[in-house]
Amino acid sequence: MAKFIISASDAESMAKSKGLTVPQLLPSLVKSAQSLARPPISNFHVGAVGLSSDGRIFSGANVEFPGLPLHHSIHAEQFLITNLAAHGGGPRLVYMAVSAAPCGHCRQFLQELRRVCDTQIVITDRFQENPDYKPISSILPDPFGPFDLLDQETPLILEKHDNQLSFKDHNKDHNKDDKDRTFLAQNGNLSNGYSGSVVKNDGELKKKGLEAARESHAPYSGCPCGVALMDCEGKVYKGSYMESAAYNPSMMPVQAALVAYMVAGGGGFDRIVAAVLVEKEGVSVRQEDTARLMLNRISPKCELRVVHCV
Ligand SMILES: [Zn+2]
Repeated sequence: MAKFIISASDAESMAKSKGLTVPQLLPSLVKSAQSLARPPISNFHVGAVGLSSDGRIFSGANVEFPGLPLHHSIHAEQFLITNLAAHGGGPRLVYMAVSAAPCGHCRQFLQELRRVCDTQIVITDRFQENPDYKPISSILPDPFGPFDLLDQETPLILEKHDNQLSFKDHNKDHNKDDKDRTFLAQNGNLSNGYSGSVVKNDGELKKKGLEAARESHAPYSGCPCGVALMDCEGKVYKGSYMESAAYNPSMMPVQAALVAYMVAGGGGFDRIVAAVLVEKEGVSVRQEDTARLMLNRISPKCELRVVHCV
């Protein structure tokens, strides 16, 4: 069965059984990564597989959302990077194999990884007998990226982030959690009828949302944020916002949380019953409107709350 993460020891033994090195194994895993895609609009399955410097293999696949503008889509390479970042992969992506040539958007997003110019890439729809790896720098000459805007000390994606955030009203309003629970309990038509479960797991949902915001990569806007989603079984999945130096390829926190949901084996998106977005109030880049739009479409009865942080 196709998996989104393969342990270092499994990767070694899979390669050994085929008489290959692990980098040589990657192209043969692209088809199974493609099978994980959810592209109901294009029906074009893209798979990306990456070898992390810690020896693990991570996969990504494209995800499309009917009824929403195309820019809400998740590309396979972006999925792969989100999967790596969320599971402590890294600090470097050493090799990657993709089913089709990466689009400009993904080539740009890859620039948020330190020294990605040296990452070796192979495109498997051009796959011949021997995989033809070449450096990322060869497919994006004259790059623009974090090295143009940030100092060397600022952490990049795959490096540890702690944005030192806490809930805005935490100390002022000791009864906030009780009020939230009362609100949820009185709105039983929300959350696909799972409001009881949401009430029970509400603290966990907010905690994970804050963690995701603390771990987010927002060095260009200074507007860190994160999302936590809960499914109808009460399981919680978190996703951190990740900015691109070129703005548009940025990974929104709802999309990042959907990646976590898929990696953990989540099914249809309508099984998501509650969400919390943690972001700063009144800042120049806010996710609330777009997060609401997105969640309304993919899981109409999902209840989204926004909790502000400082
Ligand atoms: Zn792309």
